[in-house]
Amino acid sequence: MEFKTIILHQTIRKMKKILYISLAVLSLISCKSTQKVASTVNVNTGTATPYWQQHVNYTMSIDVNTTDYQLNGSQKLVYTNNSPDDLTTVFYHLYFNAFQPNSEMDARLHVIEDPDGRMAPNIGTKENPVFESRISKLKPNEIGYQKIISLQQDGVDVAYEIIGTILKVTLNNAIKSGEKATFDMKFKSQVPLQIRRSGRNNKEGVALSMAQWYPKMAEYDFEGWHADAYIAREFHGVWGNFDVTITIDKDYILGGTGYLQNPNEIGYGYQVKGSNVIKKIKDNKLSWHFVAPNVHDFTWAADKDFTHDIVKVNDKTKMHFLYKKSLSENFKANWKEMQVDAVNTMRFYNKTVGEYPYKQYSIIQGGDGGMEYGMCTLITGKRPLKSMIGVVRHEMAHSWFQFVLATNESKHPWMDEGFTSYINVQADQKLDEKKEYPYERTYQTYTYLVKSGKNEPLTTQGDRYHTNMAYGINSYYKGLIFLSQLEYLIGKENVEKTLQKFFTDFKMKHPSPNDIMRTAEKVSGVQLDWYLNEWTQTLHNVDYRIKSVSDKEITLERLGGIPMPIDLKVVYTDGSSDNYYIPLRMMLGSKKTKATHLKDWAWAYPTYKFTAKKTVKKVFIDTSKLMADVDLSNNVFLVE
Ligand SMILES: [Zn+2]
Repeated sequence: MEFKTIILHQTIRKMKKILYISLAVLSLISCKSTQKVASTVNVNTGTATPYWQQHVNYTMSIDVNTTDYQLNGSQKLVYTNNSPDDLTTVFYHLYFNAFQPNSEMDARLHVIEDPDGRMAPNIGTKENPVFESRISKLKPNEIGYQKIISLQQDGVDVAYEIIGTILKVTLNNAIKSGEKATFDMKFKSQVPLQIRRSGRNNKEGVALSMAQWYPKMAEYDFEGWHADAYIAREFHGVWGNFDVTITIDKDYILGGTGYLQNPNEIGYGYQVKGSNVIKKIKDNKLSWHFVAPNVHDFTWAADKDFTHDIVKVNDKTKMHFLYKKSLSENFKANWKEMQVDAVNTMRFYNKTVGEYPYKQYSIIQGGDGGMEYGMCTLITGKRPLKSMIGVVRHEMAHSWFQFVLATNESKHPWMDEGFTSYINVQADQKLDEKKEYPYERTYQTYTYLVKSGKNEPLTTQGDRYHTNMAYGINSYYKGLIFLSQLEYLIGKENVEKTLQKFFTDFKMKHPSPNDIMRTAEKVSGVQLDWYLNEWTQTLHNVDYRIKSVSDKEITLERLGGIPMPIDLKVVYTDGSSDNYYIPLRMMLGSKKTKATHLKDWAWAYPTYKFTAKKTVKKVFIDTSKLMADVDLSNNVFLVE
C-alpha cells in the first residue's frame, strides 16, 4: 500500500515542519503448493513444526450488471487441508460487507483519532476537525454486500453463519489432515461505491476496482485461523490456483491477476498479434476467461475508457498498462514515460531480490492510491511523473515482499511495507543514480514517533494500532529500518544475500518474522534473535553516548534498552584518525570491517571503557548513520 494515507492525517499535520516535509517526500516515493520443504518456528510459542500450507483451487464464474453494480457468482473451491489438524469449521472473508453503515469498518472511522481522509474527510476546520465517515452515508443501492445464496460441502448443503465480514461454515464432515473438500457456492454481491481500495466509480471515474470482491477462504496456518474482520488493513490469503470467468458488458476493458485464455475472442490489445478477433458477444456481453496459477488473491479492474499498452520486460514477462483515454495529455504522457521506468524497476528487483515468477504484471488505473495485488497494482492515475514513478516502484516491490513472499500483512505489516520501502530505496539509489545517504527522513520520522509517546510495538496487529500514524510510521519506517539497521549489524553485502536467500527459500510460501531473522543468521554467522525481539516485540530504543574522554581513555554508555555493536571513529590531537569496532557479545560474532576490533561488550554492562592508540581529540559513534540512535546529540564528543 502506498504511504500517502498517512500524510493526509490530522495528527501528522500537527507535526514538526521537517517531519512534514519528510513525509511529503516519502509519500512521493510512496507509500502479501503444498511442498513440505523448509521448517519454520512459531515465534510466539517457540515450537518447531514442519512447514505446511493449505491449498485452494477456485473456479469462479461471475455475471456483472454494470447498471446496478450487482453481480451473480458461482464458485467451486477445492480446499486441501495440508495441516496436521482435522478441520470441523472453515471461514471465508466477505470483504464487501465492510462497506455498510454501522459495520466495524464504519465504527472504527468514528473512533480513531486520525482517520484515513479518503474514508472520513474532515468537514470541520483544521483546528477543530470533524471527521465524517463516508460509509455511514451510503444508501442501500451504494453499499457493498456479499449474500450467500447456497453453499454445499461435497454436494451436500452445509450450515453457515455470516458474522460481519466473516462467513463461518460448520462442516458436515471434518476435513481430515491431508484430505480435500469441495465447496460449491452461489453468491450475489453489490459492488460498493468506492470508499477504500475496491469499489465502483472511484474519484477518477474508473468504473470497477475489484479487489477483495469474492468470498475468499481465510488462511489457516501454524498460528491457526486468520479470519480477521475487515476493518481497514491488509490481507493474508491461501496459495492456490484461480480460474475466473467474468461476463460483462462488451464495451468494458479488463485488466488484473491472471492470464487471459481467450484473447482472440476479446481483443482490446490482448489478441495474439496478427490474428483476427472474433468476439463472442451474447446479450451484449463478453466473457473474459482468466487463469492465475500459484497466487493467493485475484483482483481485476474494468472501465469502458481504458487504453491498453503492453511492454516486454524480458523473454518471460510482459507488463500491461491500462489507463483512461480521457486523461489529460499531460497525465497520459506521464503514463507513457512511467512505463520505461517500470521495466527498469522490474529488472532491478529481479536482479536484486530474485526473478519475478509470473509471465505478466499489470499497472492499472483504479483504486484510491496505490495497492499491491497478485500480478498487478491498482493506482490512481492523475499524478505528476515523480509521484507516478514513486508509486509504481513501491507497488511493484510488493510483488516480491507480500505477493511472492506472502507474509501476513495484517499481523506483520512491517514485513511487507518495511521491506518494500527498503528495496524501493535501493531502486531509487540505483535508477536515479543517487549517491547520498538515503535514510535521513526515515530515521527522523521514526525518532519522532518514539518521542511522541504514541509508539506501539511492531508486533501490534495492523488494525489494532491506536492511531494510523503509529501504524504508518512503524510499518513503513521502523520496518525499513529493520533492514537498514541490519546493514549496520551484518554489513550491506550480507543484507543483500539475506534478501536473496529469503526469496529462494520462501517464495510462494508464508514466511514469518522468525524466517527473515534465521535467514540473516545463516548468511552472516552471527546471532540475531535478540535483534528480532528488541526491534519488533518491545518498545526499547537505541541510545548510546560517549560518557567521557580522558587523554587516550574513552568511556561509552548504553542509555537505551537495545544493545548494539559499536562503530567508533576517533580523531587524535595530531589530526590522524582510526576506526574502532566493539562487537556485541551476544551476537557471538561480528560483521566484516576494516576497523580495529576491540574486546566485546556484553549488554549487561551499562558502560564500556577502552584505551585508544593516541591522545583523543574527537569521538563519533556510528558515522554510517545506520544505527537508529534516538538521541544523536550525545554521539559526538569533542575534547575542549
Ligand atoms: Zn506498500
